[in-house]
Amino acid sequence: MIIHEDKINQIFSTAKPDKEEVDSILAKSIRSLERLSLKEVATLLKVSDPELNQKIFDTALKIKELIYGNRIVFFAPLYISNYCNNNCLYCAFRQGNSISRKALNKSEILNETEALLKQGHKRVLLVAGESYHSQHGLDYILKAIDTIYNAKAGSHSIKRINVNIAPLEVAEFRKLKEKDIGTYQIFQETYHRATYKQVHLSGTKSNYDYRLEAIDRAFEAGFDDVGLGVLYGLADWKFETMALIEHIEHLESKFGIGPHTISVPRIEQATGAPYTENIPHKVSDSDFKKLVAVLRLAVPYTGIILSTRESPLIRRELLKLGISQISAGSRTNPGGYGKTDESIGEQFSLGDHRSLDEVVYDLLEMNFLPSFCTACYRLGRTGLDFMEYARPGDIRKKCEPNGLITFREYLNDFATLKTKESGEKKIQEWISDYDDPKVKNRINKYFRCIDAGQRDIFI
Ligand code: SF4
Repeated sequence: MIIHEDKINQIFSTAKPDKEEVDSILAKSIRSLERLSLKEVATLLKVSDPELNQKIFDTALKIKELIYGNRIVFFAPLYISNYCNNNCLYCAFRQGNSISRKALNKSEILNETEALLKQGHKRVLLVAGESYHSQHGLDYILKAIDTIYNAKAGSHSIKRINVNIAPLEVAEFRKLKEKDIGTYQIFQETYHRATYKQVHLSGTKSNYDYRLEAIDRAFEAGFDDVGLGVLYGLADWKFETMALIEHIEHLESKFGIGPHTISVPRIEQATGAPYTENIPHKVSDSDFKKLVAVLRLAVPYTGIILSTRESPLIRRELLKLGISQISAGSRTNPGGYGKTDESIGEQFSLGDHRSLDEVVYDLLEMNFLPSFCTACYRLGRTGLDFMEYARPGDIRKKCEPNGLITFREYLNDFATLKTKESGEKKIQEWISDYDDPKVKNRINKYFRCIDAGQRDIFI
């Protein structure tokens, strides 16, 4: 068994969030940058004192700055099909729901990808409803991956496809791995077994254990780059966060690798999805901020992803607490970017409708570096290598330069005048902060190459 509810409840009920204990966890966290134990996570989650909570937020920000610097990585979800055999009561794609269905064909997928490339995206998250039908099952998805990688807009192409699809058997995972994808992402949605049963009415997804063990099967098939997630709002958020950590403990002890990313979606309104109208354990904004900060402390080397489900306001606040990857300019209906057919059903409603360029501009105003880098994955820095590599000292040598180089490319090819002016100014400020003249010269040399028309430079 991977998740032990009794153990989680017992640890949670006995954790004591007194000041001394919390201070000692925070001091250890910033000193060692190691993952926290279940007991330590429980202690932080139980803190209610506003001053102590502020200390948790401040430490989360420090850890984020140590490991990630000021970079925020961009991606865009690319929905290729909304056919689904499952019946999840929080999702508009569920089989029992009557929405307009579509599995994009090759030219429509090309069209979608080109539309994203023209915005400046380099990294997509391929998403599909969980269909086992021969026309939109795994073979369809494997072909879609080829199509996306082959798409071009001028000299630009998608450099990394992460995939969020139905759990697979080991042999199927091997086929997926051969496609050279980035992260395989799967969310348990809720780790609470009784809730899981209530909200997953039918289809393969109604099997809690089969879904939970999907990451084990992916590792057995050779994956070392996986993403986990919880759909916050179905069960108590503190329990879900503890269970997520227990899942990570399991993966680390069995395979020696934790997740590359954690996603933290909150339930959003979705057509024909009853659990989005009456959210059983709605997570308030302040609890949401707390859980993101605790996750940042609990698993320092794991990227935390925030989608456009959330409003610009809460996205801004969460960027300061631990979020390292965001989507922008998103659509959650197949064909939504290329405007294939506006009647095709979306998975859920969005809270942030701004374009990629508008979000980039906003990040600059907050002194964040918008990054389109995909170097780690392309140079094989994944799994254990990534965890080793992502030490604080290495950030300024590789991640920041890569972020700056890819951002310069974005500014030259895609930015509006307003964003370009703001971005150029920020770049000069950031470069002047480098103490090491060698690094400074190197980045300036790459900039000259980009200005001369060279593309896709990374180190
Ligand atoms: S959440 Fe996924 S599996 Fe469930 S109905 Fe929606 S698309 Fe299907």
